[in-house]
Amino acid sequence: MHTIRLASNENPFGPSPRAMEAIRVAAAEVNLYPDNSNSKLRRLLAELHGVAAEQILISNGTTSLLHLMARALLAPGLNAVTSRESFIVYPAATREARADLIETPTVEHGYALEAIAAAVNRSTRLVFIANPNNPTGTMVDAPAVERFLQRVPEHVTVVLDEAYAEFAAAFAARRGAEYTRSLEYLRQGRNVIVQRTFSKAHGLAGIRVGYGIGPAELIGRIARLRVTFDVSRLAEAAALAALSDHEHIRKTVDNNCEQAAWLARNLQELGFRPVPTWANFICFDAGEPAAALARRLASHGVLVHAMNEWGMPNAVRVTIGTPEQNQAFIAALERARNDGGGTFPALQ
Ligand SMILES: *Cc1c(COP(=O)(O)O)cnc(C)c1O
Repeated sequence: MHTIRLASNENPFGPSPRAMEAIRVAAAEVNLYPDNSNSKLRRLLAELHGVAAEQILISNGTTSLLHLMARALLAPGLNAVTSRESFIVYPAATREARADLIETPTVEHGYALEAIAAAVNRSTRLVFIANPNNPTGTMVDAPAVERFLQRVPEHVTVVLDEAYAEFAAAFAARRGAEYTRSLEYLRQGRNVIVQRTFSKAHGLAGIRVGYGIGPAELIGRIARLRVTFDVSRLAEAAALAALSDHEHIRKTVDNNCEQAAWLARNLQELGFRPVPTWANFICFDAGEPAAALARRLASHGVLVHAMNEWGMPNAVRVTIGTPEQNQAFIAALERARNDGGGTFPALQ
């Protein structure tokens, strides 16, 4: 049986074809060390976002950037603030810096920015905002972020983690919402770091490349903690090519918008309650321990993510796939549900 992987929010259409071609070409030069300052990619991104190249740091995936930021800005006695039900790397990065993490309650499984502003204190140095949020798929819109930033004191760096920016922007255009003004904040020199990754819409999760944009002085401080030659030649070549692969991104986000609606409707018809999504996955209440349902789904050939570690024992996160993958998932879910909450063991 062919396994359908809907557990890690990867691109169901594979890598950007342009990136694959660039990797093939760059393969002939992997005897050479990479450009440690990633000047080509930084220059292109600076142009794209209307900022200076000194404001950009390329990293071996944004997971590694989150750890760098925590090491640069946190220490014992200091703290970071984020929301409950959010990205698993925020606690890990904060722990590594031996700082405290304050997690505020959610509202309808989304960030409550008022609660985050209220939790910030003299010892706070970082705020992590996943927008859209992983694992719940919720978004905080631009006016809400603006109000929030006005309340946050200058000694706090706000990380706007926009890993799912392409998906959120497409949903926002269709739904008449305003997704983000993060690049404006950067051009105004505010104490904000915006994170973007090539792992999701560009389909490059396996090659590890992402970036942060922030005030030049702060980016320089964080860059000094980076491991030399952190981003490989293949990763930089792939990222450069993927940036101009508008066709692959369009195909990916268009499918995602259509299939999000299809999946939500089918989940509801099966009696589940999906959280409205702004990303490339859907979170829903399984009505039973999520790990048990995920195991039965796996026995039917579909991998999803059970969110127990997030303090959400009944929540399942499923990546939005191709139409065929989503149909297979819904069919497997129907069978897994009828396998009966663990009463009958799932058939192999
Ligand atoms: C997937 C994801 C990332 C990206 O991680 P990489 O290390 O760049 O692959 C960052 N933040 C959030 C919230 C994510 O879900």
